Amino acid sequence: MNIFIMVDAEGISGIYSPEQVMSTGRRYEEGRELMVRDINACVEGCKQAGVDKIYVRDAHGSGSNIVWSKLSDLADYYIIGYTGKDRFPGLEECDGLILLGYHSMAGTEGGILEHTMSSASVQNYWINGMKAGEIAIDAGIAGDRGVPVIMVSGDDKACSEAEQLLPGVVTCEVKKGITWKGGMMLPPGRAYDLIRNKTKEAVEKLRQQTLKPLRYEKPIKLRVEMTERGLLPHSYSKPYMKIIDGRTYEVEGSTVEEALFRLY
Ligand SMILES: [Zn+2]
Repeated sequence: MNIFIMVDAEGISGIYSPEQVMSTGRRYEEGRELMVRDINACVEGCKQAGVDKIYVRDAHGSGSNIVWSKLSDLADYYIIGYTGKDRFPGLEECDGLILLGYHSMAGTEGGILEHTMSSASVQNYWINGMKAGEIAIDAGIAGDRGVPVIMVSGDDKACSEAEQLLPGVVTCEVKKGITWKGGMMLPPGRAYDLIRNKTKEAVEKLRQQTLKPLRYEKPIKLRVEMTERGLLPHSYSKPYMKIIDGRTYEVEGSTVEEALFRLY
């Protein structure tokens, strides 16, 4: 059994400030290190649960955040940097997906560093009329490839978003959101224990085949509302897009991933 771990930054234990997740931030070096610590705990949990191969992808921003020299050697591959059209290289070889360090969708009250894809340019996303954040998007991409999400870690808001969307998914609450840049955190060692234990529980659940891939009805209708009217693409560049209003447009795709790339 192989597991893919997709890693974002905003839901990592100990992270609550934009300064920790932006590459220009004053505390970015700390943020990178905290990502590694959650990754290593999750990789250890996978190994303790008897997982064969572990693929880990750095999925935050440019995908070049993790501190190479501090990563666990128990994983088989670290996927870093720009990966083109494929958000999950290697997912085909995996049986389950872990979304580690994920955050709630844009507009979630009290969600730590909540946003959807870009806090600067995106107000809202919808998949087939349902408001969607990054958990819904990535679970849908993996679901189209037949892979279920088995665990989501993040704050309490990200965990409840995951539970509503993915029945039976294991959630790992490493912090509680108070505002978008403040929260109530578990101490480091307790967060890492929780990540290890929840990872083992999730792998066990996958073995019992109780978790199903998320599959949306096709074609996928992906709609995005931008934060400003000037951000709407020109219709010459995307002749296939449907304009909904001055800030909102929609595209169709045969999969979530195709729709996502047609949107950009
Ligand atoms: Zn991120």
